[in-house]
Amino acid sequence: MSFSFDIKHAESGSLARVGTINTPHGPIQTPAFIPVGTKATVKSVLPEAMKELGSQALLSNAYHLYLQPGSDVLDEAGGLAKFMNWSGPTFTDSGGFQVLSLGVGFKKVLAMDAQTFRRDDVIAGNKDRLAHVDDEGVTFKSHLDGSMHRFTPEVSMQVQHQIGADIMFAFDECTTLHNTRPYQELAMDRTYAWAIRCLDEHKRLTEARIGKPYQALFGVIQGAQYEDLRKKAATDLGTLESDGQSFDGFGIGGALDKGQLGTIVSWVNEILPEDKPRHLLGIGAPEDLFVGVENGCDTFDCVLASRIARTSAVYTMEGRFNLSNSRFKRDFTPIDPQCDCYTCTHYTRAYMHHVFRGKEIISATLATIHNERFIVRLVDQMRQALLDGNFADMKADFLGRYTHRSGQSRD
Ligand SMILES: [Zn+2]
Repeated sequence: MSFSFDIKHAESGSLARVGTINTPHGPIQTPAFIPVGTKATVKSVLPEAMKELGSQALLSNAYHLYLQPGSDVLDEAGGLAKFMNWSGPTFTDSGGFQVLSLGVGFKKVLAMDAQTFRRDDVIAGNKDRLAHVDDEGVTFKSHLDGSMHRFTPEVSMQVQHQIGADIMFAFDECTTLHNTRPYQELAMDRTYAWAIRCLDEHKRLTEARIGKPYQALFGVIQGAQYEDLRKKAATDLGTLESDGQSFDGFGIGGALDKGQLGTIVSWVNEILPEDKPRHLLGIGAPEDLFVGVENGCDTFDCVLASRIARTSAVYTMEGRFNLSNSRFKRDFTPIDPQCDCYTCTHYTRAYMHHVFRGKEIISATLATIHNERFIVRLVDQMRQALLDGNFADMKADFLGRYTHRSGQSRD
């Protein structure tokens, strides 16, 4: 088995750690931010540019690739990495979140605050639903052509094995902050039953697909904002073993109340086995990444960096702003003077303003390169700060200057 996790440094006084995840397609130095290429492409950016900006791995989505072009096509192509000309490690999200988000009508940004959104804003009424969950799996309508499909834990494992990413996630039922407490309990029991089925099917497929590189399977911890449910999920999945097979790592999923992010993550990470990697699903706003790292998460993914880039929003050390704003028309400085990315080295805010106003395709490419570099580098700097023993100072310095708060986002 060519998957392992080595911890190099564990912070005293917090759950933070520095380590290396080894995969058949290479190592990932953690903590690390993993950019999202939902449909086997980071929109508008070449894989070479993603590598150059420091991306160690990419995360794609099983649901989208299953619908188009079909996971069998990726299998025939030699797996996700080869198919998309990416020479490093890859992850796939299980599709659990997507079948429900596209079917139940979650917003693109999962509400991270139970007060701002009303339940009706987040969960579609029953007759409008495109997805129906039962104990066996989820039946859903394709958002592309309306055709009907069914995902079960076994199907999700089959699809993810065909796609061939180094790290996969177990099929889970994702809930929102607005589901009732009894429903959260029901969904968690279901996720646990599905976790066992995922482990069994994963073991069967690993043995059947002789000669393929080992794919690691991460269990997903649900439980929304409830302490007892989160702790139960971490205990149950952390110790779960079925027919000799246990999870290789864990994903922390579900809707996360932004105000309680650190608390929720620490409940879970204090219980999960220390020697296995932990991925915080869909989290990528700068201020949240600090919280995730200091509470023991090793990897992160979020589609926000590239999605907001296409709307001209960029991250800087001083906060987030929009390049299409007229105040940048004659601003001949880089997007962020402290950034070392290709865009900041070669272009000005005035040029970026011009290409966004003119709706030029290059605007997406250049802004995405900058935003992905900003986030990847920020987490790299956290890793270095942990090794140098000055994480707290680095965090205080960054948050003292950075002003903008945003939400959780998955594609
Ligand atoms: Zn830059």
